[in-house]
Amino acid sequence: MSNAARTGCVFVCSRAVRLLFSYFCFINEKVVAQTKEWLFGKNLEELGEIVLRLGMPRFTARQIAAWLYKKGASQISQMTDISLRNRELLDKIYTVGTVAPSAVAVSTDGTKKYLFPTLSGAYVETVYIPEGDRATLCVSSQAGCRMGCEFCVTGKQGLQHSLTAGEIINQMRSIPESGDITNIVYMGMGEPLDNTAEVLKSLEILTSEWGYGWSPTRITVSTVGVLGGLKELLEKSRVHVAVSLHNPFPAQRAEIMPAERAFPIEKVVEMLKGYDFSGQRRVSFEYIVFDGLNDSPGHIKALVRLLDGLKCRINLIRFHNSPGSRFSSPDNAAMVRFRDALSHKGITTTIRSSRGEDIQAACGLLSTEKKQTESQTLS
Ligand code: SF4
Repeated sequence: MSNAARTGCVFVCSRAVRLLFSYFCFINEKVVAQTKEWLFGKNLEELGEIVLRLGMPRFTARQIAAWLYKKGASQISQMTDISLRNRELLDKIYTVGTVAPSAVAVSTDGTKKYLFPTLSGAYVETVYIPEGDRATLCVSSQAGCRMGCEFCVTGKQGLQHSLTAGEIINQMRSIPESGDITNIVYMGMGEPLDNTAEVLKSLEILTSEWGYGWSPTRITVSTVGVLGGLKELLEKSRVHVAVSLHNPFPAQRAEIMPAERAFPIEKVVEMLKGYDFSGQRRVSFEYIVFDGLNDSPGHIKALVRLLDGLKCRINLIRFHNSPGSRFSSPDNAAMVRFRDALSHKGITTTIRSSRGEDIQAACGLLSTEKKQTESQTLS
């Protein structure tokens, strides 16, 4: 689930949408049409198939991976430990790939929101959040989203397309702060587990020794609870998991999150209880607090019952009023009361600070506006 809303949810903003673009600095309006296939985003196995098909030695796959993911090559010609003949051969069919962001908005708190064009003509948003000695990058996994969460701007776009592994990692590779990132959260636009194969491939590239070599404990994938994808994620990776909960009562949850009908939260939690979270791997639940909607004593009781027996934490996110929304924002005192009540019941609960509010927030606003501007220009 796109923490677009989730994180977007985190970056929820009450600013008028029309103000949005006044904050943006367009840094790369021209999107280069790339007709050649990207090498960036391919795993070692795929690179192995490519080099064998082109008649190159198998070890060339490792050399290419090192140039792509360790040495930051932007062109095949830079891969100088590969023979000139083989570089020319590769260059006929492939390109390194990678795309620079086309716009950036900078918040007074240091948060930066980037807009990336995708190969099929959509836009996705990526948020860079520096905080002390940490810097978290929130990446998108889809342009748009088909989960339809009522509170989410991205959900209103519908699904345009799913990103490739290369497009997902490109968001980390192609921002100026790339080298400063300490953590990655898949909480931008889209539902990551509605694009499981590419998300898993991106995780493989991030965490393999031939790739970026990151510890999986630096990565969190968020989801509304797509059951099949969640099982795969739990079994094929060791990254942290964050489930967008928002309401423990199935009927109430379904009202704001249609995905509840296909993936009931009770089944999601039941599945999670079958895995071990007592070590380094963590599971957390994101909970957007809407004033008067999901913050009653009854909700606390139901949350405690639902999560009983699962080692987890809850991250509370204050909903921020937005134009045209039927939801309203709780005040700080209500957030603290809700947190303390859950903590008192033995569930580790934190209030996530809102960042980047002045550059607007809910992921999806920017890409929606950019698309609309383009449509108007074309018509
Ligand atoms: S509609 Fe999609 S992007 Fe938005 S909150 Fe739901 S799952 Fe996330």
